[in-house]
Amino acid sequence: MAVADSPVMQQYRAAKREYPQAIVMFRMGDFYEILGDDAALASELLQITLTKRRTAKAEDEGIPMCGVPHHAAEGYIGKLIEAGQRVALVEQLETPEEARKARGSGAIVRREVVRLFTPGTLTEESYLAAGQARYLVAISGGAREAGRLEGAVAWLDLSTGEVGVRGMTAGTLGAIVAGLSVGEAVVPQALEEAVAGVVPTGVVTVQDSLFNHDAAQRAVLRAYGIDTLEGLGLPTEDAVCAVGALVGYASLTQMGQLPQLAHPKVVNGRSRMMIDPATRKNLELTESLAGKRADSLLGVADRCITGAGSRLLARWVAEPLTDVGEIGARQAAVAALVEDGAVRGEVRSLLKQTGDIARCVSRLLLGRGGPRDLAVLRGTGDVLPALQKALKGKDGLLAVQAKGLGGLGELTALLDKALGDDPLPALVRDGGFIRDGYDGDLDGHRTLQRDGNRLLQELEAREAACGVPLKLRYNQVWGYYFEVGKAHAAKVPEHWVHRQTTTQAHRYSTPELMRLERELGSAGAKVQHREEEILATLVEAVKGASYALLSASEALATLDVLAGLAEVAARLGWVRPEVDGGDAFAIVGGKHPVVAARVSEFVANGCDLSGGQTWLLTGPNMAGKSTFLRQNALICILAQVGSFVPAERARIGVADAVFSRIGAADNLAAGQSTFMVEMVETAQILNRATAKSLVILDELGRGTATYDGLAIAWACVEEIAGSLGCRTLFATHYHELTALAEKLERLSTHQVAVREWKGEIVFLHQVKPGAAAGSYGVQVAKLAGVPGRVVSRADELLRGFLKVAHGKGVVKVDELSLFAAPVVAAPKADNPIEVKLKGMDVDGMSAREALHALYELRGLVH
Ligand code: ADP
Repeated sequence: MAVADSPVMQQYRAAKREYPQAIVMFRMGDFYEILGDDAALASELLQITLTKRRTAKAEDEGIPMCGVPHHAAEGYIGKLIEAGQRVALVEQLETPEEARKARGSGAIVRREVVRLFTPGTLTEESYLAAGQARYLVAISGGAREAGRLEGAVAWLDLSTGEVGVRGMTAGTLGAIVAGLSVGEAVVPQALEEAVAGVVPTGVVTVQDSLFNHDAAQRAVLRAYGIDTLEGLGLPTEDAVCAVGALVGYASLTQMGQLPQLAHPKVVNGRSRMMIDPATRKNLELTESLAGKRADSLLGVADRCITGAGSRLLARWVAEPLTDVGEIGARQAAVAALVEDGAVRGEVRSLLKQTGDIARCVSRLLLGRGGPRDLAVLRGTGDVLPALQKALKGKDGLLAVQAKGLGGLGELTALLDKALGDDPLPALVRDGGFIRDGYDGDLDGHRTLQRDGNRLLQELEAREAACGVPLKLRYNQVWGYYFEVGKAHAAKVPEHWVHRQTTTQAHRYSTPELMRLERELGSAGAKVQHREEEILATLVEAVKGASYALLSASEALATLDVLAGLAEVAARLGWVRPEVDGGDAFAIVGGKHPVVAARVSEFVANGCDLSGGQTWLLTGPNMAGKSTFLRQNALICILAQVGSFVPAERARIGVADAVFSRIGAADNLAAGQSTFMVEMVETAQILNRATAKSLVILDELGRGTATYDGLAIAWACVEEIAGSLGCRTLFATHYHELTALAEKLERLSTHQVAVREWKGEIVFLHQVKPGAAAGSYGVQVAKLAGVPGRVVSRADELLRGFLKVAHGKGVVKVDELSLFAAPVVAAPKADNPIEVKLKGMDVDGMSAREALHALYELRGLVH
């Protein structure tokens, strides 16, 4: 028999109905309870015991339940989010006493969902990595002209208030999203399919209503507290929809609240280098293929002091610039700090004293900030004048940042005056964070609280002046009272009030004692309350200064990145590349930033692809081909980030895109074989690369049969060096391709040199003109520890194959015991059957002649 829900269960079910996709954590006294299917899931993810919640009714079987103590909830919520869950937190909005007072003795406590925790909308320090952003992304748009997808991508870091938006097409969507470290995405139904391969499905929310143009527009106006969209400069309806959906969704998760949002940064796609997802991964920009940050480009280039600096550098590396002026401005600032080591040192040491103010502001404005967030604002504010002073006399971007650091004097002075000394308590209720002397009321409450005993003693002494021997006492029932021996009872002053008579004594109170007692009892609560009130006024002041705070935060992060890049350049001897709008790519003495940091003697190599040259690079495995390919792409990216580069000299005409096809990884999850992945990536490059792109291709065509692969590689080289004319590095084992160099003007051959020594090879890691003598696969196999007998057999086979390839002999397939050996086939021109067939005039033959020819042909078959 179904059991009617208790009122509490009804509350629970209402919350669950509202947030069916989230795990509902339901506050019951000191615990959060998780019920039903959620409980089974959560108990497994959190490794906590699964029990049952029963009602008093005998027939009730109860429902699955698990619970976590409320004071430890943060950790458990963090684990659930890490596991890809969303959590709806239901709080009690009143105490049981308040409920009874308001709605009678049977009343239950009011409970409501106060927060929806989702992976892209976290603001708590404990859920966020200091140096990494986790963006909430909204993608709007749909099929436009000729069915082509078009729209906008907007992103929000709720923990800092950073907002950005840019246009997208089917061709650029993947690249844009891949550059964003997406925590969560919101899309309309029409785009669900388009984002399927771009964002992990677990973090995608499909919600059409958020993208409705009117609703989106209203959401934007509300979020920015403005009446018209004009000032925001959102360029398209798609951009409005994407930003609207973004802030709309974020405010749903925060129950209508939002922190101060920075004005949306509108990014023009053309002003950024395009790097597709595969290239990003292959070049190991933010993490190595093994998933390590330390072995990535960022791992080497990130010497930022602050978390906000690291986050900004990650954005810069994800989106290198294409505008020569903007790149030059960053370079000039880095150069100034490279040259002026003293200022660089000072800036960096001052940055150490600053905190993550954008995240603090966000938390404070969302009502989850505490005294320590204010302390961070104060501490940072205190340092800003010194930073400005250190930058005095600098121009360009550095001067812009110095200016951005201004405007916080008043707030800092206020916080300096109001806040006590560090360390301040983490929680408001721990109290004691407002400085004595800042607020008269608070001082009064504190005096009472602190000086309670002294005041009582003073009162006792005053009353004792009447000559009656008295003692001040306290008990739970009566509180404070004066006790006077029975013999003296008649002599007590008139203003004393009799409270109680015991066998030995009389107990009295006085109006003053009662007042003092009342005040003492409530002083603690009053101190807390007053501190909360003051905190609220300080938060208001923070809100009033929030634009200045966000701008200071951005300036600090930018300074940190510039000084960090200068530090890398100075320490590692990197140089400032010449970047212009031409078609040069001339690197002298280039190094791979990561590999050079790992191996003791890295051999520097030059590269010149100026004018749209293609270098065909041959050389054995392990010679350093991939390293060379990657290092040039990384140098190009670093240059367009505005950084110095690991080279002796570099001149680069900005690349609109860097494409790579490196390594072979199955994408079996998407149902694609190695070869398919390789061809999809190749197709994208050939379809998208322009004469301004930089392309690196490593062993194209390797995933299929030899001649298949050679044919594809050949055709690709012809297309690239012949028609596209993009600056290209092409590493290959197909030595046949080197013949193309004679035919194609823009193609030249280069090799990574090795020396043969007593049948072994020595890797020189030197890139020089000309084609390699061979691939030395057998020698490399030997070096790798392939058993001796296999190596000698391979060597023997190789000699056989080579003879065939050079037409010097016939090798029988079964003699070699191979499954298939395409290279064994004799050259076609020598085949007598073919010669005979080609020579026949089939149309002019009589039936008899045809029959005769047939016999002849049969005779040619052995
Ligand atoms: P390939 O692509 O030709 O097989 P890799 O580029 O993977 O070769 O390089 C193999 C190894 O050689 C690298 O892991 C690195 O340790 C070393 N190496 C590559 N280039 C250099 C260099 N220029 N100087 C020193 N060592 C290098």
